[in-house]
Amino acid sequence: MTIRYHITPADPVGHLFDLSIEIDQPTPSGQIFSLPNWIPGSYLIRDFSKHIVQLQAFCNDRPIQLTPLNKSKWQAPPCEGTLELRYQIYAWDLSVRGAHFDQQHAFFNGTSVFMQFEGHEDTACQLSLHTTEFANQNQWRVATGMPEISVNDSGFGDYLAQDYKELIEYPFEVGRFHQLDFSAKGIPHKLVLTGKIEWQQIDQAQLKTDLVKICEYELDLFGKPYPINQYVFMVMVTENSYGGLEHLNSTALMCARDDLPYKNDSKRTAGYLQFLELCAHEYFHTWNVKRIQPEVYQASDLLTPAYSEQLWWFEGVTSYYDALILYRAGIINVETYLDLLAKQMTRVYRMPGRFKQSVAESSYLTWTKFYQQDENAPNAIISYYTKGSLIALALDLMIRQKSDLSLDTILLYLWNTFGRPRIGLVENQIETLCSEVTKQDLSPLFQSALHGKEDIDFNALFQHFGIEFSLRAATQLNDLGGKSEAETVLSIGANLKNTQHNSVTVSHVFENQSAYMAGLSAGDEIIAINEVRVRNTDALAKRLLRMQPEESVTCYYFRRDELYQTELTLLPPMADRVVLTVSNKDLVNKWLETQVNEAL
Ligand code: ZN
Repeated sequence: MTIRYHITPADPVGHLFDLSIEIDQPTPSGQIFSLPNWIPGSYLIRDFSKHIVQLQAFCNDRPIQLTPLNKSKWQAPPCEGTLELRYQIYAWDLSVRGAHFDQQHAFFNGTSVFMQFEGHEDTACQLSLHTTEFANQNQWRVATGMPEISVNDSGFGDYLAQDYKELIEYPFEVGRFHQLDFSAKGIPHKLVLTGKIEWQQIDQAQLKTDLVKICEYELDLFGKPYPINQYVFMVMVTENSYGGLEHLNSTALMCARDDLPYKNDSKRTAGYLQFLELCAHEYFHTWNVKRIQPEVYQASDLLTPAYSEQLWWFEGVTSYYDALILYRAGIINVETYLDLLAKQMTRVYRMPGRFKQSVAESSYLTWTKFYQQDENAPNAIISYYTKGSLIALALDLMIRQKSDLSLDTILLYLWNTFGRPRIGLVENQIETLCSEVTKQDLSPLFQSALHGKEDIDFNALFQHFGIEFSLRAATQLNDLGGKSEAETVLSIGANLKNTQHNSVTVSHVFENQSAYMAGLSAGDEIIAINEVRVRNTDALAKRLLRMQPEESVTCYYFRRDELYQTELTLLPPMADRVVLTVSNKDLVNKWLETQVNEAL
């Protein structure tokens, strides 16, 4: 028996998908079914059921009345024969986590559109993707990682998943996208890009070469047999978006148009490197989190939150490897890698919240904290991505310092012992395994940096690897860290952004720094300093450069529509930007393994 799902991109203007689902042997006492409240990989209750329009049910084509059990769950009356559900899904969420449909394309995740049936969790799911006159006229094609049963040249037709959990692992991109095909270790891969792009200006050869390097490196790292036999990168290109969500054999990404590689670029831009890092990150999840997984995620019905402290490993370690893979795959040199790493480290050192929340707690409470960040986030929380990646770095260095092993050893152990056989990991298990596999007691690191809130002593750790770790003050308002020759700029201790009408608003205030002491808050609109108008952040930065530490200025600002003024005393800047400098090339090898570029 299979459950038969039908989806039709029916109304591009109304953003409506038509859905029909048939199940032949519904539960005799009355079939219970639901739509997930969250999507794996994104830890927020999203209540996808709010987008359902006109849910109807039929027993052998006869209309029947459904009983709602809660906001996303229903029960049908007993039905002998075929139970059919019909409904529409309103799809107007341009993100990798939902569904989006207009005249340009249709994109959906299974969690946004497909009901799950209680008691039929193991039943195979057949999906029929129906075409429409509109789709045909616009020459729409289909991109997905879902195994095909029978499809037409454009990809419309029938697909098969082993069960519901697998059904929702295959997002679909349907439209007139640009496509690049490539092979990595003999496995067919494709990159599809949706959105307006000047395709002929894109350096397609560069894009392909770099992606092949990344994919082949990762396939080699985890080894044969490979867990995938095809892979799709689906990218939504917009003016200024960034993000991704991992799946079994595909990933949905969003990137800024400017971050793509253009033929006129003399070298890879910072934005393009960030895009490649994102690709490396999501591809790495094919192993780490899609197959090596917490047990609680495997067991979840996606209706209530699944709580785990393990995201330091699944997101932190993946973040550590994403930039490292660009280096190991030969895309960037040591210098660029250390600069990327310094920037990643800076993001931790700039968060006073790291002394208030542990990474383990950040992971556990991600549902309400990390995924629902407000303007106070830098003062109150720490990211399990960024600090998790520093725990991974520290682990790698500690293991290498005392043995011939490395973090790769743990990763491969987890892959072969838990990932391949799909055995879920229970809480704290990875920490115990790190010590067991390496025969080193690594528990003090976990005690202080994962469950505790302490900084890791990178000064001491990097010493053994020929790298000097140092902290410097910011040299510009949006200083991300890494090396800088420029002069130190006085900080007002707040993140600022330009407004549409020639002023500057405060987006975050760092506790106990200048803006905080002056009583400024997030949302305040700064219009003048010392009675001279402030039009944008650049102009403000220029003026700050000329000022002396401890100098006081009068700051005029609007809070809502009320005008206020305050004395802002410029404090000496904090040293919170990380710089990594090579002091001994031979020792760097002990960590980065490959020959250090002589050009350094
Ligand atoms: Zn991730």
